[in-house]
Amino acid sequence: MTTKKFVYAFEEGDGKNKKLLGGKGANLCDMTQIGLPVPPGFVITTEACLAYLAQKKKGLDAELMGQIKGAMADLEQKTGKRFGDPKNPLLVSVRSGAAISMPGMMDTILNLGLNKETLPGLIEQTQNERFVYDAYRRVIQLFSSVGLGLGDEPFDDVFDDVKKKYKAAQDVDLDAKGLREICDRFMQVVQQKTGTPFPQDPYVQLEMAVEAVFRSWMGKRAVDYRREFGITTEMASGTAVNICTMVFGNMGNDCATGVAFTRNPATGENRLYGEYMINAQGEDVVAGIRTPKPIRELRPEMPEVYQELEKLRHTLEKRYREVQDFEFTIEKSKLYCLQTRNGKMNAAAFIKTSIDMVNEGLITEDQAILRIKPDMLAQLLYPRLDPEAKVEILTTGLPASPGAAWGKIVFDADRAESKSKLGEKVILVREETKPDDIHGFFAAQGILTSRGGKTSHAAVVARSMGKPCVSGCENMTISYATREAVIAGVPLREGDVLTIDGTTGNVFQGRVPTIEPEFVEDLLVLLEWADEISELDVMANADTPEAVKKAKKYGAMGIGLCRTERMFNQPDRLPIVQEMILAESTDERQASINRLLPIQREDFKEIFRIMNGYPVTIRLLDPPIHEFLPSADELIQEITHLRELRKTIEGMATLPDTLRMLDPQLHERYSANLEAITLGLEELKNKHLAETLIEAKEVVLRKVRALAETNPMLGHRGVRLGITYPEIYSMQIRAILEAAAEHIKSGGRISPEIMVPQVCTLEELKWVHRYVSQIHKEVEKKFRIDVPFHFGTMIEVVRACMRAGRIAELAEFMSFGTNDLTQATFSFSREDAENKFLPLYKEHEILQHNPFEVLDIKGVGRLMMITMEWARKTRPDMKVGICGEQGGHPDAIRFCHYIKMSYVSCSPPRVPIARLAAAHAKLTEAEFSLV
Ligand code: ADP
Ligand code: MG
Ligand code: MG
Repeated sequence: MTTKKFVYAFEEGDGKNKKLLGGKGANLCDMTQIGLPVPPGFVITTEACLAYLAQKKKGLDAELMGQIKGAMADLEQKTGKRFGDPKNPLLVSVRSGAAISMPGMMDTILNLGLNKETLPGLIEQTQNERFVYDAYRRVIQLFSSVGLGLGDEPFDDVFDDVKKKYKAAQDVDLDAKGLREICDRFMQVVQQKTGTPFPQDPYVQLEMAVEAVFRSWMGKRAVDYRREFGITTEMASGTAVNICTMVFGNMGNDCATGVAFTRNPATGENRLYGEYMINAQGEDVVAGIRTPKPIRELRPEMPEVYQELEKLRHTLEKRYREVQDFEFTIEKSKLYCLQTRNGKMNAAAFIKTSIDMVNEGLITEDQAILRIKPDMLAQLLYPRLDPEAKVEILTTGLPASPGAAWGKIVFDADRAESKSKLGEKVILVREETKPDDIHGFFAAQGILTSRGGKTSHAAVVARSMGKPCVSGCENMTISYATREAVIAGVPLREGDVLTIDGTTGNVFQGRVPTIEPEFVEDLLVLLEWADEISELDVMANADTPEAVKKAKKYGAMGIGLCRTERMFNQPDRLPIVQEMILAESTDERQASINRLLPIQREDFKEIFRIMNGYPVTIRLLDPPIHEFLPSADELIQEITHLRELRKTIEGMATLPDTLRMLDPQLHERYSANLEAITLGLEELKNKHLAETLIEAKEVVLRKVRALAETNPMLGHRGVRLGITYPEIYSMQIRAILEAAAEHIKSGGRISPEIMVPQVCTLEELKWVHRYVSQIHKEVEKKFRIDVPFHFGTMIEVVRACMRAGRIAELAEFMSFGTNDLTQATFSFSREDAENKFLPLYKEHEILQHNPFEVLDIKGVGRLMMITMEWARKTRPDMKVGICGEQGGHPDAIRFCHYIKMSYVSCSPPRVPIARLAAAHAKLTEAEFSLV
């Protein structure tokens, strides 16, 4: 029978094999082999763990136990001590460690090998009786609660009891005598509960400790953690166990223990950073028994050891080419290294150390780029809650637009505007928002709504402005009339302060301090390197000159989607747009359109000016036009109120006569007052309640009803609107081309891209193209210059995908609108899906992801591939992009790179993330496959 090797001494284990040895074990082996001062020890492999879990019986397999004993014998040889020797006992730590660092597995047991016989030996060595009994009671408790399955409760009870007896407030107040008593009583607990005494044989202790670590791999906390963070068996399977000779940082004042980083993980500064504690052991630093000291104080205190730490820092970085986070212990002025791993840092420090390490020749530019996960940059782009702040979540809604903000509650857009003009920070709190709330968005720090998902109006507008938004916060009721809201049972009024975190969806009462994004200089350097590598261009979705400016600042290489309806929604335009929609005749409509034309032209000119020379893709009007009108419900309510008011006023007018008839004396008494009131009301009626006002509202209501659709998202919108209302599209086309002409005349460069939404057949495109050709001719004639432009289409209807070959005859570019295309491919309406069944689908893994957040590569992506193939058969140099929300996400970007798309377009703050992701996509393309 061939036997498997389950045990590797630190001198022999392969430092690269984290799967077999766990992260901690592999690094201990590696450090030992490059000559770093690691106390002798060995690793029991993850394979041994898996074999143990499969055998389903207690006790380690004889073969494995044999190998462990062999390794222990080697340790005894190396240390000159003996396991269980009363005079010179070898003590070890038993430490878990999987391939991926993972809380939830069993805690480390220190000082294993202690028993009644070896206690005196350790007291002799440490000269510290109290410490030894403290260590002993810890071993007994940890062992018995986890290893023997007794739980902590019986031990905690004993502990409290003894503390009371000795009037000790905390465990540190107990002296050796108290601790010895605890040890004795712990022994009794074990005897009582298990019917057998606490194991005194060190090898029995060792065997049981190893088993307990193995079993903790399947413990609930560990299993939950793996599920939560998507750790697959590919990534980590089973835990290794590290047996490591104890070194003592608590044997006197020439001893210490500590943790350090090779560079400052908060700032990236290239300097040893960390904390230490004199005369302390292992986790004392973390446990906070005393306050540790900053590492620089070690320099005067132990100058030689400090020099060694400096040397260690450089050796570690040279070896791992990453900032390291390491543990050390100093025993009688000798330094030991007990663990090292890649340091976790914030994004700014990650970027700074990456660039520094390139300059120091430690890593290449490519490696620097790959070190940084694109999503990490979000920290530098959105304001976030101060991680130091102690907070209690009031409630949680949907994370609709990232970033954190605080401000005073206001319940309508007008008050948001007026308060913010007074310099106050406000949060706009609504059931839902509508296009005419737009000025409230500009004024507010953030938006909170009780209804609507991540595509609700509030969510979409907030994202496009880069403002934090929490939507669908169902735990909130609002009373607009009294300007009050109840959130999770807490009553709040206008003016009360609220904090929202649109990255997580959390809502907090009061002000939680926020940290402004730190768009660091270093990031620009890194992104320049990234741009050189990547093949995909990164554009931005931006609708207003302000957003376009932001996009430019973040390094967008053009505007991939400019939605013209956002411009329609601004308060100075909305009334004209409404007039246009309500117009009864073509002439009337043309009149309103003529007023809109110069406004739109100015918008475009400003955008062209900002993006001079870069591509700007403008989408013609897309949403169903009733979105620009108030809702029928709202109108009906208003009309009813107005009618009732009229009736009341009319009733009041007859009141004096009625009163005279009923009681002349009373009439006499009140007549003067009554008359004054009636006159006042009559004036009000004439001024505000003229028949025409009610009539006007009724006209709007009729129009709203006429425009009502069963399913507006599949209704009269996009190009269908452009064909039925040619005046609207013609105006927009003219505004674009005239703006371009004026821009060029004033010395600028631009070649605008006119994009038609919702196209399903070439015929639709031809139709719109006729207006474009006609208007283009007129504009060139009028300005007497050439006005270059491109004509293209959104691809968001499944039929358009299937007809891409034909559509490409006319379309010079295509842009996948993956929000609509996903809805169309799944036949899911997003709002309903996200509110009703997608959570359950994800929970039961019917779908892995929400396809509106994570591009569905297998379905929607496949459709995109077919579309591109057919389109490029007709037009080989067809420019193809993606402008759906998923387009800013690294996974989607990898896919888009793989299928040779020309560009991705995303919201301005995501541009840096996308630029980095595009470089990652190029650098890792060999590892990508479509499965
Ligand atoms: P964790 O993963 O929780 O950090 P570790 O196994 O690294 O667990 O150990 C916990 C603490 O005990 C650390 O401070 C570590 O340095 C210390 N420690 C572990 N083994 C030994 C040992 N053999 N000698 C001294 N200290 C040790
Ligand atoms: Mg720990
Ligand atoms: Mg550790």
